[in-house]
Order: sequence, then structure tokens, then C-alpha cells
Amino acid sequence: MIPTRASYRDIPLYSPAKRPCRVDLSDNTNLFGVPPAAERVLRESSLESLSRYPRGYAPDLRGVLAEQLGVTAECVTTGCGSDDVLDSVLRAFLEPGELLVFQDPTFVMMPLFAQVNGLRTAAVPLRADFDVEPEWLVSTGAKVIYLCSPNNPTGTVLSRAAVERVVERAPGLVIIDEAYADFARGPGFLDLARTCSNVLVTRTFSKAFGLAGMRVGWAVGHPKLVAEVEKARGPYKLTTLAEAMAVAVLREDAGWVRARVEEAVENRERLRGGLVALGLKPLPSEGNFLMVPLPGAPGVAERMRERDVNVRAFQGLTGVGDALRIGSGPWPLLEAALVALRESLR
Ligand SMILES: *Cc1c(COP(=O)(O)O)cnc(C)c1O
Repeated sequence: MIPTRASYRDIPLYSPAKRPCRVDLSDNTNLFGVPPAAERVLRESSLESLSRYPRGYAPDLRGVLAEQLGVTAECVTTGCGSDDVLDSVLRAFLEPGELLVFQDPTFVMMPLFAQVNGLRTAAVPLRADFDVEPEWLVSTGAKVIYLCSPNNPTGTVLSRAAVERVVERAPGLVIIDEAYADFARGPGFLDLARTCSNVLVTRTFSKAFGLAGMRVGWAVGHPKLVAEVEKARGPYKLTTLAEAMAVAVLREDAGWVRARVEEAVENRERLRGGLVALGLKPLPSEGNFLMVPLPGAPGVAERMRERDVNVRAFQGLTGVGDALRIGSGPWPLLEAALVALRESLR
């Protein structure tokens, strides 16, 4: 046997419970489909372009993002999904053995990325109102603090005051993961990435922008931070096609994205009504999904899958307990989920 890394022995492969279901509301992707400009790029893409490497560090996408954000290209980095951006940020700022702290509950990938990078972690529970406790996060002394707003899986947002307090007092870098910012009521925290030298905001094309299968994510922050992340990421993380599609969507499909976001938010609240009618109490949400606390959620999700509807189940979440996370999208899918859920509650 080839000797392997001891620290990798217990790392599981990512495999949320899944079987192909007619209705899949389990991953918060855009259930309305792919934006039209991306589809056109795919149809018109030339085969020759695929036999050569892409240009390094996705300069076209970087440029368009920078232009739309009103920053220079040196303030933007991209990656193979924001998963890759987050992983690269951890690698860029933390030596193995150093401490990453994150809010709890939050994005399930963070502890995994930490483990893969040999980091120690501390999880700081969200307060009862789902805001972060700034003093507690800061007092860990962690060189990197991860925040997520709107938060996956709860859907709740962090207050401006708490986030600003963390940023002011943090001993090192603050990552603010805004994968769902497009669905939120407020403007989010991009301005902090522009004005503070210790903040990176990450975003993705996988949720509102309908390109999860193409794997495109990005981050914005001070050029000195971004330069370190670019070192950690490697030059060819975006494929030629992915970059071209993302650029086209930014340039041409803002209206399409906005309309689908509005529909997802409207249907999310209609779904909330249906859940309340079943006697459930979904958490407040500013994402394209609802979290519904429900004892025995994994069993309920399994019975829903038997009825051809896939939703994500969580067990024993800090401050929440067992819960289902149900993605929003076209109403007929949500209606099917409500029927399956009603039949699966016991
Ligand atoms: C979906 C998600 C991401 C990752 O998305 P990519 O597909 O890797 O861009 C990052 N953070 C949160 C909180 C998410 O829910």
C-alpha cells in the first residue's frame, strides 16, 4: 500500500442523500434553467477554442465583474465555483494547523475545506435571532473568520451592525459568503469589500445566475488580498466556455436574472404559506429556499423521495435541531413538494 496522509483518513466524499427525483429542490440552484445569453454562447462556441488552454486567470470575466462593481480588475478573483474560491482563500491565508472560525450552522463545505487544508476550526453558534456574536468570533483570535449571509442552510441574514463590528475588530481576514445575495432585500456587504482591507466577499453563478454546472465563482476585495488568492488558485480554474458564458450573462441577461429572482422570492413566500398551513414554522429567509425545523427530518425527506421529491434534510443543527431545506423555483414544483410533504409527515 502507498502511504497516505493520516489527516485525510477520515475525509468523506461529498454525497448528500440523493436519488434521481422528478422534482429536485435539494441544492438551491436556479430551477428556471440557464439564462438565454449563456445558451447562445454554448450553441455558437467553436470547437477550435476548446483544444487550446483558456487565457490564465479568466481576464475577461475579471474585467466585466470589475467594471460592474466599479473597482479595478486587481480587486477581483474568480474560480471553479465559489467553492474553489473559498478553498483557495483558506490555502492562501492559513498554514496547516492554523485556526479558521465560522458561524454555526453554516455552509457544510467549510469544515470540509478546513480539513482538506489541515486547519483547526472553531464553530461559533449563531444567536437565537440568527445574528452572529461578534465578540465571540473575534475572541477566538482566528486569522480567518467566515461569515455567510443570507446563510445556507438557515436562509437568515446577518445584521449590518454585527458584521461591521466583526470587520472592525477581526485580527485577520473576514470572508463574507454572499452566494444568495441576489435574493436578499438589502444591498449586502460588497461595499465592505471595497472599503476595508481585511474583507473578501464571495459570490457565485450557481444560484441566481443559473450556471451551477459550469462552475463559476468570484470574490472581490483589496488587491493585496486578491493577489494572494490568485497565487493559491492556479491559472486555469475557469474553462473557456464557462468564462464566455458568465461574461455573456453579466452583459446581456441582467433582466432575465432579476425576473427569475423575483419569481423565486415570490414563490418562496407562497411556499411558506403552504408550510404554515401544515402547522410548520419555516425560518425567515432571504435566500431562494426555506428552512423548516422538523424533528425526524431525515425520515420525512426519505419518504418524500419515495414520492419523487428531493429536499435536503439536516440533523441536529445548532439552535435549530432537525430541519428540511426546500429550494424555491417554478410554482408547480413547490406545489408537488407540499403534497409530498403532507403525505410524508407522520
Ligand atoms: C452554493 C453555495 C456556494 C458554492 O457555490 P459554487 O457552486 O461552488 O459557486 C457557496 N456558498 C454557499 C453558502 C452556497 O450555498
